[in-house]
Amino acid sequence: MPTSSPALTIDSSAAYAPGTNVSVMVPAPMPTALTYQVPDGMTVRAGSIVKIPLGKRMVLGTVWGESTDAVNPKRLKPIETVMDAPPIKAPLRGFIDWVADWTLSAPGMVARMVTRGEELMQRDPPITAVRRAGPEPDRMTPARLKVLETMRETGSGDQAYTKSGLADLAGVSTAVIDGLVKAGTLETLTVQREPGRIVPDPDFDPRTLTVGQADAVETLITAQSDKDLNVSLLEGVTGSGKTEVYFEAVAHTLRQDRQALILLPEIALTATLLDRFAERFGAMPGEWHSGITPKTRRQVWRGVAEGKVRVVIGARSALYLPFEDLGLIVIDEEHEAAYKQEEWVSYNARDMAIVRARFEQAQVILASATPSVETRINARLGRYRHVPLPARYASRPLPSLAAIDLRRTPPERGTWLAPPLIEAVQDTLERGEQSLLFLNRRGYAPLTLCRTCGHRFECTMCSAWLVQHRFTATLNCHHCGHVEPMPKVCPECGNADTLVPSGPGVERIAEEVETRFPDARTLVLSSDMTGGPKRLKAELDAVAAGEVDIVVGTQLVAKGHNFPGLTLVGVVDADIGFGQGDPRAVERTFQLLTQVTGRAGRAEKPGIGLIQTHMPDHPVLQALLAHDTEKFYALEEAARQRAHLPPFVRFIAVIASGSDVAAVKAYANHLKAISRPPDTIDVLGPVDAPLAMLRGRHRQRLLVRGPRGRETQAFVKSWLAKADKTRGDLRIDVDVDPQSFV
Ligand code: ADP
Ligand code: ZN
Repeated sequence: MPTSSPALTIDSSAAYAPGTNVSVMVPAPMPTALTYQVPDGMTVRAGSIVKIPLGKRMVLGTVWGESTDAVNPKRLKPIETVMDAPPIKAPLRGFIDWVADWTLSAPGMVARMVTRGEELMQRDPPITAVRRAGPEPDRMTPARLKVLETMRETGSGDQAYTKSGLADLAGVSTAVIDGLVKAGTLETLTVQREPGRIVPDPDFDPRTLTVGQADAVETLITAQSDKDLNVSLLEGVTGSGKTEVYFEAVAHTLRQDRQALILLPEIALTATLLDRFAERFGAMPGEWHSGITPKTRRQVWRGVAEGKVRVVIGARSALYLPFEDLGLIVIDEEHEAAYKQEEWVSYNARDMAIVRARFEQAQVILASATPSVETRINARLGRYRHVPLPARYASRPLPSLAAIDLRRTPPERGTWLAPPLIEAVQDTLERGEQSLLFLNRRGYAPLTLCRTCGHRFECTMCSAWLVQHRFTATLNCHHCGHVEPMPKVCPECGNADTLVPSGPGVERIAEEVETRFPDARTLVLSSDMTGGPKRLKAELDAVAAGEVDIVVGTQLVAKGHNFPGLTLVGVVDADIGFGQGDPRAVERTFQLLTQVTGRAGRAEKPGIGLIQTHMPDHPVLQALLAHDTEKFYALEEAARQRAHLPPFVRFIAVIASGSDVAAVKAYANHLKAISRPPDTIDVLGPVDAPLAMLRGRHRQRLLVRGPRGRETQAFVKSWLAKADKTRGDLRIDVDVDPQSFV
C-alpha cells in the first residue's frame, strides 16, 4: 500500500489565452505530456478534454497545464476541438500522475482510463416535444379535449411532453396531437433530454441496527472528519451486516452533500447490491461496469462529473470516474484478486482507491470477512482504523465445519464425492433444505486425453491444457478464450471413441449429482454458463426462493448472496490451492473456503460445512475449521516474514514477451545483465513465466525484490531506462505488487 502523501496540485480554472502552449496527456505509451497550442477563439483550461492530432490520428487527450517545453514552432500543432464535457478536476489529475508514477506506466495511458473514448462525451440526440402555445382549437373533439385536460392535470402550464408520451397519457393516437399542433394550440420544440433522476435519500428506509453495528457506524461516521487516518477496515464474518453498516456511512456522506463510490470485485454481485441499495435509499445508484449499455455509460459518466449522480456502484474501473466531489469509497470484499487489473496499466484498485481518497479528502472503508494479509497487518500497525463487527446478525451461529479425509473415506472410482458428503446431501434433501457443492473449476474436465496414444489437448497459443465443456461440446482455453469443437477422433492417432476426460470440473460434479440424486433439482452456477448478469440474477433469485435443491458452483457463488434455505456446503477439493508456487495461494484458499462455507445457515436453520481434503492436518485448514482467523493471520504473517514475501518486501514483476522465443530470451538476459541492483534489491530470473506462452507470446519473467517504499520503483525506472530499445513485437510489462504469478 502506497504511503507517501500526494503532491499538491494547484487548480487554475482560468482559461489559457489563444497562442499559449499547453501540455496534453495523450493516450500513448510516452513518459510525459506533449505540447499543443491553443488556437484563436478556443477556451481551454487545465483539465479540459480535447481532441488533438497525434501522428496521423485524431485522439482524445487531457490538458495538464501550461507547457514550458521548447517546441519547434513548425512542428507545433493546434488543439483541434474541446470536448463538450466538464474538465478533469485537480484532485483527479493529481491522482493520475500518482498512479502513473507508482505503477511505472505512461501517465497518458492512466489518463485514458478517465476519458476513455469520444462516444462517452456525446449527448443523447435532442428530442422533439410539444407544449401549449395558443388558444383551444375551433373544432374541439372528445380526443382533443382529453389531451388538453391531461395537460392541465399533469403539467404546470408550459410543461413539455414527448408526443408519444402525451398520447399515451391521454389515451389517444399521436395523430390527435399532430392535429392540435396544426391548429396552433400546441407547438413543437426540441429539448435535450436529461435522464430522470431520483436522488438517493439517506433517510428513506434506515434499518434498526444492533448495538455492535451501531457502534461500528458511529466509528465510521466519526472517522469521516479525521484528516489523518482516512482508511477503515470493516471486518466481520459473512452475515454480520457489513453491507448495512457501510450503507449508513454512505447515508452520512449523502447528508454531507458529497458523492460515494462502492466498488465490488465482480459484476455478478452488482444486481443484488443495486436492489438492496434501492430498498435502503429509495433510488437506484449509478451502475458502472463492462456490462452496461453505452447510453448508461454516457449518462453515468456525465452525471458523476456534474454531481447529479450521487452514488455509484461499480467494478474497479469506476475508480477512474470524474466525480465532482467524492467523499467516500467503499471497497467491498477488499481481499479479492479481481481488484487487480493486469492489462495495459497494472494496478490494484483497492490500493489506488486509498490514494484517490487522499487526493479527494475522502474516506475509505475496506470491508471483508477475510481481509488480505496486507490489510490485516496495516490494521494491526494502526495504519488503518480497525472496525470489527463482532457477530452474525440475529445471533445466527457460524456453520459447524468438519474435514472429510479423502485418504480414509475416498470416493468410488471415477467419482468425486466421498460417502460422508453424499450422506450429508441426502439428509439435507430429506429435510427439504438446500446444498451447495463447491469446486473452483469451470467446465467438465480440466484435461482431455487419448486412451490409446496418450495425446493431451493443449492450447496452441498458451502453455495450458484445454478444458472440456460438455454443455457446449467444446474444448476451451481459459487463458486466451480459444474455443474448438470437441473432436470425435484423436487428431494424433486417428482412433475414434478413445478420448477421455481427466479430473473434474463443475459440470462433471453436476453429472454425478444428477446420477445419484435423480429427483433433486440441480443447478450449475459458473461464470461461463452464458446468459449474462440478468440470467445469473434470475438463477440466484431462484436459488434464494428455494426452487433448487442442489447447487454446483464455482467461486461465483462464494460471495455476496443470501440463500436462506441453504444449510449444507460441501467443498469438493480443498487442496487445489495448497502447495502451489504462488505465494498468495494459501491466503486465497483460506478466504475462498471461509466465504463459501459462510453461505451455509444464513437464515434460521444452522449450517454445516464439509471439506474434502487429503491434508486434514494442514495448519491453515485447522484454523479454518476452528473459525480461528487470528490463528490463520498469525501463521500466514510469520510464513511471509520468514520467506521474505510481500508485504514485508516489495515485488515488481518485469515480463518480456514476444512471438520470437529466442528474441524474448535474449532481451530478458540483456535486462538482467544491465540491472546492477543496489545491495538492498535483488533481481531474480529470468525464468520462463509459469504461463510460458500466452496468446501466442513467449514470456520470460524477472522478479525484483526490494524494500517497501519508493526505492524499488525508482530502481526499476532507472534500470529500464538504460535498456536497449525493444524491436519487433517485443514488449515489456511491469507489474508492481503482482497478484498472480502467471
Ligand atoms: P455481510 O455484508 O456482513 O455479509 P449483510 O449486510 O449482507 O452482511 O447482512 C446479512 C443479512 O442480515 C442480510 O440479509 C441483511 O439484510 C440482514 N441484516 C443485517 N443487519 C441487519 C439489521 N440491522 N436489520 C435488518 N437486517 C439486517
Ligand atoms: Zn490459449
